[in-house]
Order: sequence, then C-alpha cells, then structure tokens
Amino acid sequence: MGFGQSDGYDRGPREMHKVICSDCKKECEVPFKPSGDRPVYCKDCFSKRKNENR
Ligand SMILES: [Zn+2]
Repeated sequence: MGFGQSDGYDRGPREMHKVICSDCKKECEVPFKPSGDRPVYCKDCFSKRKNENR
C-alpha cells in the first residue's frame, strides 16, 4: 500500500508570512502567522534572544 509515498500532506510546504523583525527591523519570513500583539523576530534575533534568555 502507499507506504513511503509522500503525498505532501504531512510535510507539505509551510506557508510563510512576511514580517518585519521587531529587533533589527529587517524583513523576514516566518512559518507561522504573526498574531499582531506579539513582537516577531527574524531567525537571527530569535536565536540571539534565546541565548540571552536562558
Ligand atoms: Zn532581526
């Protein structure tokens, strides 16, 4: 049966949302929908903050 066949449903392409990073103000894309009431960070700033915030 269809095992090993990827129908693209489970690991389908994520919808990316263009946002402006709240830290460096750079335009970036995030794989989740920004809620609007929370700051959104690019990958760089996100990992930077994660490191600072341990
Ligand atoms: Zn940033």
